[in-house]
Amino acid sequence: MARNVGFIGLGNMGRHMAANLLKAGFELRVFDVVPEAMDDAASLGALTTQSPAEASAGADYVITMLPSSSHVEEVVSGPKGVLDGIGEGKTIVEMSTIQPSVTQRLGQLAAERGVHMLDAPVSRSQSAAIKGELLIMVGGAPEVLKQCLPVLEAMGSTIVHVGPSGMGAVAKLVNNMVVGSIITVTSEALVYGVKAGASLDSLVEVLKNASGNSWLLDNLFPRAFEGNFEPGFFVDHMHKDLGLALASGAELRVPLFMTSLSRELFATVQTKGLGKKDALAILHVLEELAGVEVRK
Ligand code: NAD
Repeated sequence: MARNVGFIGLGNMGRHMAANLLKAGFELRVFDVVPEAMDDAASLGALTTQSPAEASAGADYVITMLPSSSHVEEVVSGPKGVLDGIGEGKTIVEMSTIQPSVTQRLGQLAAERGVHMLDAPVSRSQSAAIKGELLIMVGGAPEVLKQCLPVLEAMGSTIVHVGPSGMGAVAKLVNNMVVGSIITVTSEALVYGVKAGASLDSLVEVLKNASGNSWLLDNLFPRAFEGNFEPGFFVDHMHKDLGLALASGAELRVPLFMTSLSRELFATVQTKGLGKKDALAILHVLEELAGVEVRK
């Protein structure tokens, strides 16, 4: 079985995904612009390289897990990029959250060189990346997905084939549009409730037993209620993802009212210098505006 994987982008998510691939017995050649990120992967058994092309040479699969569209374009199709190193018939698995039209364009470029490409962005949180329990949404040919399943199954526990190239990226944006709005409205409502005099515990108990409950309230908000806004999932990435959705909506002539609003709220969090905090830092900014703390 094909066991050689190139892995590019060892950040909050990528480093744990790479660790799970190593644990599952894959041989990894890694590249990141931050040398310390590569040192960590090397301590787990990965081989470090000097460029995306070098990480891709001899790999059966090359995974990219990078911040945004421009990084992926540079890493895949730029100088010393993945397409300069990867062999014909091999597969690029693009797992970052990027513009669907960019992943489609790179997929075409790859196909012209006889290289397969899947868009396979992920959902759930960093803790799911650590446990190998990510949700992976896939766009691309079903037969290529079938070949890649052992790799994807080392990182995720739910794998959904959404459709042809770009549809994994679309599904990811759909999910984050919902997440962005739920985080902002849950934060806003709790700030209101606590300022009005209700206790956080009682409000959470009500929400959890009523129709206002959410996966986010169950799994991510508890940290914020302790004043912990460390990432997790950067405010910058949430702002980026909502911007991708707005750009894609504009291409398709779909008005996205709630997405515009929640993106501007995350932009406000960025202006406070909190872009590298967790997306839940929106709660902190709304607390400051209202002059109240929503804490356990
Ligand atoms: P991150 O910023 O922590 O990691 C990105 C990594 O890419 C960093 O280590 C960075 O040094 C590296 N990098 C940047 N440019 C590079 C280049 N040219 N060559 C090689 N390496 C380069 O981001 P993350 O939180 O790991 O997220 C990665 C992607 O996954 C993003 O698109 C994000 O939106 C998405 N995502 C994140 C989460 C989450 O909870 N953090 C969840 C789902 C999806």
